[in-house]
Amino acid sequence: MSLKTHFKNNDKLTYPFKRICLKLSGEALMGDKSFGLDPTIVSRVADEIKQVHDRGVEMCIVIGGGNIFRGVMGASQGMDRTSSDYMGMLATVINALALQNALERIDVAARVQSAIPMETVCESYIRRRALRHLKKSRVVIFAAGTGSPYFTTDTTAVLRASEMDCDVLLKGTKVDGIYTADPFKDPDATRYEHLTYEHVMRDKLNVMDMAAIALARDNNLPLMVFSIREQGNFYRCIEGENECTLVDTCDAV
Ligand code: UDP
Repeated sequence: MSLKTHFKNNDKLTYPFKRICLKLSGEALMGDKSFGLDPTIVSRVADEIKQVHDRGVEMCIVIGGGNIFRGVMGASQGMDRTSSDYMGMLATVINALALQNALERIDVAARVQSAIPMETVCESYIRRRALRHLKKSRVVIFAAGTGSPYFTTDTTAVLRASEMDCDVLLKGTKVDGIYTADPFKDPDATRYEHLTYEHVMRDKLNVMDMAAIALARDNNLPLMVFSIREQGNFYRCIEGENECTLVDTCDAV
């Protein structure tokens, strides 16, 4: 069965999607570099976002910071974990500002909202204000994670997608879905088209941390994992084409 048919047949899912949340890891903005941002990639990702936005879909984005700094990295080098996590959260703000700028350059109205207040740089996270931006067709980019250490931006994405009442959370990665094994290391690895939250948790499939998956399950938030590297793939996933892995409560597509 195609994903589109699955979406249409499932009364727990709203389709076509009216409001979505996109999770982008910091690495998605890094391209082939080993650190930081690649401006060409940031522009390309902005184009992908515009393509979906032009379709009339309300969109918020949660952005990671792993291309600049991760809390566990600092902690492994002797820093205290909390300070290290704050540095990681600040890294996400850098990425958010870069993406906001790239979107504005192609005439997509965008607002960064940070969970750590920094008034001179961007708005603070205020749920009702974010909802108002979405209703006005502005893309809202959530930065600084949850604002608390010991969390990840994957958990933030599930949290914000739930708070914004999104129909689905899409996670843009380097690969086009969830595989039975690491497709870069194992040539026999195959992609799942559809999984339940329980399956992901039981087999410890490498897609999001367990806190994020459990929160998605508890809030019945469907997840789609797709490759942001393939041009037009984001749009095709929104169209319900099977170029991703869907995680929800149903057993089979
Ligand atoms: N972080 C945090 N609390 C949050 C979200 C993120 O402390 O709610 C920190 C954490 O140190 C993390 C870093 O921010 O390593 C960057 O986020 P993440 O690793 O999720 O980024 P991604 O892997 O998506 O690029």
